[in-house]
Amino acid sequence: MQRDAVAWPVRLAQNPGMPEDVRVTDASPCPPPDGLSLQALADRCVQCGLCLPSCPTYALDGLESESPRGRIALARALDDGRLPATATTEAHLDHCLGCRRCEAICPAQVDYGAILARARASQRSRRPPGYRQRSAEWLAARPRTLSALLALYRWMWPLIPETSRPLPRPPARPTGWTPNVDAPAVAIFMGCVARGYEAGLHLAIARLLAAIGERAVFPQGQTCCGTLHLHAGDPGTAHALANANRAAFAETGIALTLASGCHEAVSSAVGGARDAISHLAEHGGRLRFAPRAERVALHLPCSQRNVVRSDAALRGLLARVPGLDVVTLDAGFGCCGAAGTQMLGDPSRANRFRQPLLDQFAASGATRLLSANIGCRLHLGNGTAVPVQHPLELLAECLA
Ligand code: SF4
Ligand code: SF4
Repeated sequence: MQRDAVAWPVRLAQNPGMPEDVRVTDASPCPPPDGLSLQALADRCVQCGLCLPSCPTYALDGLESESPRGRIALARALDDGRLPATATTEAHLDHCLGCRRCEAICPAQVDYGAILARARASQRSRRPPGYRQRSAEWLAARPRTLSALLALYRWMWPLIPETSRPLPRPPARPTGWTPNVDAPAVAIFMGCVARGYEAGLHLAIARLLAAIGERAVFPQGQTCCGTLHLHAGDPGTAHALANANRAAFAETGIALTLASGCHEAVSSAVGGARDAISHLAEHGGRLRFAPRAERVALHLPCSQRNVVRSDAALRGLLARVPGLDVVTLDAGFGCCGAAGTQMLGDPSRANRFRQPLLDQFAASGATRLLSANIGCRLHLGNGTAVPVQHPLELLAECLA
């Protein structure tokens, strides 16, 4: 495989035309309950409080109602009618970042993610989402339309006042690449907003796969993973998107996810879904990296640490680049505060989680910031002029 002779875009070589937007309507059926009720899930919590020190919102506010234990009790009381919903109780549910640090540490194995999804669905039925949230959900379910708007946003970006930019500038598409058509195909999940920002990452994963004798393909018909909708209390749309992805990847065998925040939804919809970092780490012995005298900062997204659990695999891959100096960002609350659409809906609160990480990054002397989740990269990238990339982009650059 000649890495420098592959023409961009790889997916156009494999699959002419952009993937179609998937028609998702409010009439999409809500999936049947996948197990226990909110009450039954909440009953598993023994209220030990061991999760409190790991919760970013508890660390920020110091309130029981902003802790996992408090939110579980709140969700249960709202669900059984013991507590009326007020602006204050809704705000405590809104503030949850969905980072699931509590779930990762809970000795009783409380499924906090499932509790939050059910609590948000109830919340949505009593308080419909606002225009901004609805717009984000509508666009996420239509990646083709969203990509066109992001191309326009890239063009307009210099004209928008710095304080009014909701997202960083989408990058230009790289050029100059040709796939090895003889290698076994591995399908790549592209996501929704990521498509407008990840042309460089698609090139990087194609180059890395080529280095281990595989070929990246980008199936048509794939769409948003639905995590954004599920976390906003809309399991019906999340279910419809999962069905579309299941159909798009029905014939592909292995399907790699690039964003840690998308992985759980894709892996439950698509048989054979794998995290790209873990996949590459398994074949790490076949990757050869040139020496790189550079200090980089590594942000480990909550979804990567607590759900995908590919942080050790990533550290192992980065350690194989001779001379690379990796500084892990862990300041403040750990979580960057992006939390799906929260960075758009409540940017000042989201920035309180982000700022300690950016301060640590600025003091580190690192030349770029690496993060494996698109939401985190967008949020972090909107607060710094230094490049914020997926770690696989750096690894592709370092291929020998
Ligand atoms: S969620 Fe788990 S760790 Fe937190 S209070 Fe309940 S049982 Fe304890
Ligand atoms: S998901 Fe994160 S923010 Fe929400 S309660 Fe758990 S630890 Fe706290």
